[in-house]
Order: sequence, then structure tokens, then C-alpha cells
Amino acid sequence: MSNTTKLTVNKLNLTKVNLIKGAVVCFIDENENDKAFLNEVILKGSEMLKDIKKHPKYHNLKDGDFLEFPLASNTKIEAIIIVKKPNDITEVNVRKVGAKLANLTHYDSITIFTSNIEFLTQVTYGFQLKSYFFDKYKGERSKRVKNINILSLSPKIFKKNYLEYSALIEGITLTRDLTNEPSNILTTEEFAKRLESLSNLGLNIQILEEAELKKLGMNALLGVGQGSPSPSKVVIMEWQGIKGKDPLVIVGKGVVFDTGGISLKPANGMEQMTVDMGGAGVVAGLMKTIAIRGAKKHVIGAVGLVENMPDGNAQRPGDVVTSMKGDTIEIINTDAEGRLVLCDLLWYVQQKYTPKAVIDLATLTGAIIVALGNEKAGVFSNNQPFAEQFIECALEEGEGAWQMPLDNSYDRLLKSHIADVKNVGGRPANSISAARFLQRFVDNDLPWIHLDIAGVASTGTGSSISPKGATGWGVKSLNKLIDKYF
Ligand SMILES: [Zn+2]
Repeated sequence: MSNTTKLTVNKLNLTKVNLIKGAVVCFIDENENDKAFLNEVILKGSEMLKDIKKHPKYHNLKDGDFLEFPLASNTKIEAIIIVKKPNDITEVNVRKVGAKLANLTHYDSITIFTSNIEFLTQVTYGFQLKSYFFDKYKGERSKRVKNINILSLSPKIFKKNYLEYSALIEGITLTRDLTNEPSNILTTEEFAKRLESLSNLGLNIQILEEAELKKLGMNALLGVGQGSPSPSKVVIMEWQGIKGKDPLVIVGKGVVFDTGGISLKPANGMEQMTVDMGGAGVVAGLMKTIAIRGAKKHVIGAVGLVENMPDGNAQRPGDVVTSMKGDTIEIINTDAEGRLVLCDLLWYVQQKYTPKAVIDLATLTGAIIVALGNEKAGVFSNNQPFAEQFIECALEEGEGAWQMPLDNSYDRLLKSHIADVKNVGGRPANSISAARFLQRFVDNDLPWIHLDIAGVASTGTGSSISPKGATGWGVKSLNKLIDKYF
């Protein structure tokens, strides 16, 4: 099973400190309650720590770092973890402190107390974000902290505060699970089934099958999946937390596996193409979060689920397809398939829902990794204030995002001799020509953002706040954007 560390919350009782098992985390703080807790823990623990601030190691501690003091076996407390509270206590900084504590996987149980509820909330959130494991296919489970025990002066207030964050944890966990899942398991059928199960949270789920997509004229999307035995699907997830408001629509690329098709990718690294549904994974996680927290917002998630395989039936380079919009597309490279899925989906949601704004997410181009690495997603938009709102939210959430240019000077890259447009613009400005391709299918007056998440959806190294593999990038920023601006 994949999961995060189990969370329990209790009221601080200083007389019961001796019953705590595992490691105990204390913050160096001038607050009387924090001092009393530290003294009580140290009293039960170790004589030598009596004046912790005079400890030689303490002076070298950087903000947010900690010292670990294993204790002798005459107490249930296995170790005392002394954390130097960071001076700069932005939410993102405090989460990183919690995430560092999640690396202490040699303890079964970690207890954390500090009197500042907001600080405690963010530490807990960071801890849970980092302590995600995807080890369901391993005989030997990953080492992990099994329990995190939160002690609070007001557990009721903590729990109420934390509801929003546990909704985010649940959403991000879904995004990570979907993105980490191998493609023989997460077929288009299985993906749709998992999304369908979100209906028990109050989401209205609608699945459009191939016959329906054909009727709608989504030939660009269908062309991508025609070489795969897995049927192409579009899944719509609607959350109507408020009536009478035009929706924000979030669109995701869900290529469950991308071989490149007839324009076959090289073998080296092809296994990483299981994450080519990362955009759809973010949409799913975001919709789950919004539903769990019962947001009073109108949001629609739409994902295109296809598999790009080479086959006797597969689309060829040189083929021309007619999109739902009516524009004809010359397929130059069958590996530039994400934009073919998105262009029909973008067109469809505009016709069907009169959205207030549209955002799409896609692991669209390798070129965005060349430009921005694994640190930042590429942000493209036809509306500067909207782009700035998103980037502000991403900054607040510590999710890297960087705006890229998007103007008609790049359009000549996409000129086709035999169709209205071709599906690739060549190596120069590859991410930008991909975004310009999508823009053809978006109404000029509709605020729209395209997020190229090829570099951030999954990382081989992990980050300060997420483990190796799928990150869940985007759920936090989009959730904040919806709260602030919709
Ligand atoms: Zn591709």
C-alpha cells in the first residue's frame, strides 16, 4: 500500500511525558509552554541535556536543523530531537522542518509538541507530505515512521485547522499514486475506474467513450490512442460547490504510456513514460482535495486518457487529422501526441461549459526540462494578470513556476504545407511552439494558462518536501488559486 504516516492528535499532559514512546521533538522557543515541555522531556531523559543551549553542538545549528540525542534504555523515550526554530517562519519554511523530521525513519513513532498551533500545523503538513511511500510492489517495505503523535494545547483547534491540510494530503497522495503506478496496471480503463470512485465524495463523474468522442469529432485525441488496445476516454469530474457560477476548468493530459508511437522513442529511459499522465493525475488529486474540503467553488476537471503505442493501426507521420474545432493537423511526429489530446479537450470544454477560465497541465515537452530542469514548471498564458495570480500562489506554496514567452512570432514554426497546422515546430523553442499550438484551440478572450510540468511531475531524487518519484506538483498551488481568485 502507498500511504503517509498515521497521524494522532492529543492534548499535552506534562504529567504523562514519561509514557511517550519513540522519539520526542522539542523546539527551542522562549514560549513558557515550550520551555516547560522541553524541561519535562529532558528531566525524563538525560541529565547532560539540562542546559541545552550550552551544548557545544547547539551553537552550530542552522535554522530549522536539529540535534538528535539517543537516550539510555531506562526510559520509553528513545531519543530527544532538539530543533532550532527557523527565524523566517513562512509556511513553506516550516513545512521543510517537518519534512526533515520525516527522514528519521529509524523511529517507529515520533511525538511533536509546540504551543504555536499554526507552526505545529505546518510542521505536521510538511512531515506528511514527505512521508509518502509507494512500495506496494516490494516484498520488503520501505523504512518509515509509522506514527506521528501531535501534542497540542488545543487539539480541537489543531484538528479543525488541519482539515484543509489533510484534504490536500489525500489529493496529493492520489496524484502521486496515479503518477507512480506502472502502465500495465494503470490502463485507461483502470484510470477511469479510479476516477469514477471519486463520485462517493460528491463529485459528478462522467466518462465519454470512443463512440461518443468520435461523434463529437475529437479525431486528434482519438488518433493518438488508435494503436493501443486500451480504449481512449475522456473523464469529466465536476464539483459544484456553489450554484450559478461559471466554472474554472482544469484540463489534464493523461497519456498512460507514451512509446512515441510510430516515431518510437529510444529504449533508454522509455520506462519513465509511465508518468506521461501526470497532468491528469494532478487534475484528479486537485478535484479530490476540493471535494473533501467541500469548497464553495465551481470547478470542473477534464482529462484525456489515451495510450500512445505503435501498431498496424497506429497513426503515421504524414497523416492529417481534423480536430474537433475543424482545424486540420499534419502529424509530423507521433511522439508530439500530448497537444493532440489537449487540443480537442480544450475545445470541448469551451463549447460545453462556458468556463470563466481554463488551465491545462501536461508533461508536454522534454524541452521544458532543458530550459527549467526539475525545479520549475513552464507557465504560458494569454492573460498576464491570470498568469501572475498563478505564479504568486505557486511561490507561496513553494512550487517552482516560471513564465515563458508566448506570442505569434513563433507561429511560423508550425506552418504545414498540406494542413492548417503541423504538430511539431522542431527543436528551437519547442515548448513554446507546443504552447502556441494549444493556443489555436483557446478563445482569445478566455483567460487560459498552460502548465508544462514535464520536469516537475516526477523527480528521480526527491525534493525537500516530496519523496523520490511523483511529486504531486500543482495540487497545492491550484488549490490556493481557486481559494483566492475563484
Ligand atoms: Zn510523446
